[in-house]
Amino acid sequence: MSCDFLTLANAGVQKLHPYQAGKPTSELERELGISDIVKLASNENPLGLSEKVKSALQSEFSELARYPDANGFYLKQALADKYNVGLNQVTLGNGSNDLLELVARAFVSAENEVIFAQFAFVVYPIVTQAIGAKAVVVPAKHYGHDLAAMAAAVTDKTKLIFIANPNNPTGTFLEAADILAFLSKVPAHVLVVLDEAYFEYAAPERRGNAIAWIKDFPNLIVSRTFSKAYGLAGLRVGYSVSNPQIADILNRVRQPFNCNALALKAAETVLQDDEYLQAGIKLNNAGMADLSAFFSQHNLEYIPSMGNFITVNVGQSGDVVYQALLHEGVIVRPITGYGLSDHLRISIGLFDENQRFKQALVKVLKLDQK
Ligand SMILES: *Cc1c(COP(=O)(O)O)cnc(C)c1O
Repeated sequence: MSCDFLTLANAGVQKLHPYQAGKPTSELERELGISDIVKLASNENPLGLSEKVKSALQSEFSELARYPDANGFYLKQALADKYNVGLNQVTLGNGSNDLLELVARAFVSAENEVIFAQFAFVVYPIVTQAIGAKAVVVPAKHYGHDLAAMAAAVTDKTKLIFIANPNNPTGTFLEAADILAFLSKVPAHVLVVLDEAYFEYAAPERRGNAIAWIKDFPNLIVSRTFSKAYGLAGLRVGYSVSNPQIADILNRVRQPFNCNALALKAAETVLQDDEYLQAGIKLNNAGMADLSAFFSQHNLEYIPSMGNFITVNVGQSGDVVYQALLHEGVIVRPITGYGLSDHLRISIGLFDENQRFKQALVKVLKLDQK
């Protein structure tokens, strides 16, 4: 007789729900038999892969029968130079998601508590639950992190605090001064992961230089990714910068080849491609202004965002509106799983993609043409 394998899984894993990704374009094509689909669901860079990366990848093909550099030396060196830190402070990951999990796995055990905010990135509860640790979810303030309440939630069981800035899926942003004030309240033995997946999109004059704060706050780990502004989501590469001892510990638990050869090559290349990065940021700023104005015009309440996506209250079930938009060939992201059942998250796309979304939403919500 077959056994109930779920009862064999770790206690935390038994109650785990899989991560819900944005619907792939190919899946919608299959399901509805439609083409010309616009995907604004996973905060990818709408410009597509940088041309420089495309040619660098071509020249890497002949090397692919070999294992990649397990230490990712050239990419780490480029990041260390860029941010003025030691090579021994950089850890590479299979996406920054990998790093979030590595930190939890290396430091947190079932008897610990992990703090994060309501509406914060869903991977924090997932990695916490997988370990069987206690998630301490601090109610949001204006859809964002309430840092004072999060600092107050620290107990002697707290091991780790996750903060996303800007946060996904709300796009909310924390000022540098507020994060610094928070860090000075957190005990030195509590790790703080500052997840800056959307760092490049945040306003340069406001975003602060968190990597420079590690000197004063050795318990701070800053994670960033090549998936969003750098346009490498499909290759999976991210990194963290931390105190060297923390980096050494993460290096012990990671898979030996967690960054593949193409990902390393692409990341090294795109890091030098400032033109690509700036073009994406410019496009994002214009699209953000466009969609914000559109929502205001139609009296749809939206959450001001510093990321490359915007979350809007559609005044009815987000899941229903999401389904209707699919039939118009537009994929956005329902966020009912976050407890935001009347909201949808829309990634900023190319100019024409944003227009397609607006037209589809006007049709689905029967908004007045303006
Ligand atoms: C997208 C995202 C990440 C990680 O993405 P990777 O592709 O794994 O690098 C991390 N944090 C937040 C808040 C994100 O939105």
